[in-house]
Amino acid sequence: MEPVRDILEQIIGQLASPEWLKNVLKVKWRQIVGDQLAKRTQVQQVKNGVITVVASSPAIASELQYRKDELRQRIRETAHFEPSDIRIRIGVVKSEESVRAQRIEQELSRLVLSPREHALIEQTIAPIQDPQLREKVAKVFEQFLRLNQWKRKHGFKECPRCKALYRGPRLYCPICRIELRKYAHIETDF
Ligand SMILES: [Zn+2]
Repeated sequence: MEPVRDILEQIIGQLASPEWLKNVLKVKWRQIVGDQLAKRTQVQQVKNGVITVVASSPAIASELQYRKDELRQRIRETAHFEPSDIRIRIGVVKSEESVRAQRIEQELSRLVLSPREHALIEQTIAPIQDPQLREKVAKVFEQFLRLNQWKRKHGFKECPRCKALYRGPRLYCPICRIELRKYAHIETDF
C-alpha cells in the first residue's frame, strides 16, 4: 500500500491544479445549477480561483449573476471548492459537452470504491479531530478516488513526475510539461 502521506500530497497537488477543479466543476455542473441552467451554461475555465462561466444568452447571464451567492454556496457544497470570484460571459454553450459531462457524472456515481480505497479514506481522516473537516476531507478524497478510477477505466495513464492521470502520447502530464518547459532552456517537447 502506498504511504498515506504520498497519496495526500498527490491529492493536494491535484486539487490545487485548475485543470482538476475545472473537471470536477464540469462533471458536477448539473448538480450545481440544476437541469435547466446546465443546458444553457458551461464552465469555461478556472484560473487563480476565479471560475469563468459561459451563458448562452444575456437573460441567462443575468439570472446567473442574480444567483451568484447561491451558486457560490452550491459550488462549495458540491465541489468542495471556494471560488474567489465567478465571472459570467455570454457565448456558445456546447451541448455535446454537457451531454458528455452528464454521462461521466452518471458513470462516476455508479463506480464502487474498493475495500482498499475505503481503508485509505478511513486511515487518512482518522487523525483529523474536527468532525466537519474530517467529513469534508473524506468527501474530497472519495471524489478524487472515483475520478481516478474513472480515468484509469478510460485509458488514462499516470504521470511519472506528479502521479496525475492524463491522456495522450506525451511522457508527462500537461501541467508538468508546462513546468518542465520553464526549466528547459532549449525548446524541448516533453
Ligand atoms: Zn505530471
